[in-house]
Amino acid sequence: MAIQKSEAIVLKTSDFRETSLVVNLFTKDFGKLGGLIKGIRLTPQRYGGMPLIFSRSSIVFYQNPKRDLSLVTQCDAQEQFLPIREDLEKTAYANYFLELLDTVTQDYDKNERLFELTVDALRALCHTRESWRIARIFEIRLLNFSGFKPRLDSCVNCQKEIVQEARLKTGGQGRFSSILGGILCERCFGHDKNAQATLKGTLASIEYIEKSDWSKALRLKIAPDIAAELVTILNSFLDIHLDKEIKSRKFLH
Ligand SMILES: [Zn+2]
Repeated sequence: MAIQKSEAIVLKTSDFRETSLVVNLFTKDFGKLGGLIKGIRLTPQRYGGMPLIFSRSSIVFYQNPKRDLSLVTQCDAQEQFLPIREDLEKTAYANYFLELLDTVTQDYDKNERLFELTVDALRALCHTRESWRIARIFEIRLLNFSGFKPRLDSCVNCQKEIVQEARLKTGGQGRFSSILGGILCERCFGHDKNAQATLKGTLASIEYIEKSDWSKALRLKIAPDIAAELVTILNSFLDIHLDKEIKSRKFLH
């Protein structure tokens, strides 16, 4: 078994037998993996303390060639995101982020951008009173970095360029079709009768967040009606494309 090092976000921990712990980790260099830390419940100090969910840790492990549980020999917390642990709302949002991350990733599928995104989101959550804002940025960028990006620049049915036209002509906005994965132009509304009309600022906000770096995205002004519409659109899009109920969402707000 090869010995490996990486940074990891702790997704979940569960007791294993009398003294050991199973940890689900999302690592920067290897993607998601399961690890076993033998004996840690007897002598946690030997391993750098008990791993806590959400924390960013430096890990050392023997990679299991069969991709079964790897043997983790070190799991040192580098950041514990304490303000999240002290606040129920922030904890609910952090749980939601980790559930989304877990849902869009497969074991050993490395995705450094998703790793950095999650660390950025957890850090930002520590210092904000607007957890909802961090959630919208996280959702939009997670979709982007995991290959589920909604199509907003042209009609998903006829490929006609659409946002450009909408900016010039009042009322020329397309409708958002969660099931088809993006915008339908006026001529193509019939292809999804559940497609939803949107405010102009909603799609523009999604595009802006997709293209900006994290700090610019944080400063974007989002009016309350647009914030509400972003929730509806992103929730329905995530539900359809992830094909799984995101259980932690019901604890938000
Ligand atoms: Zn069309």
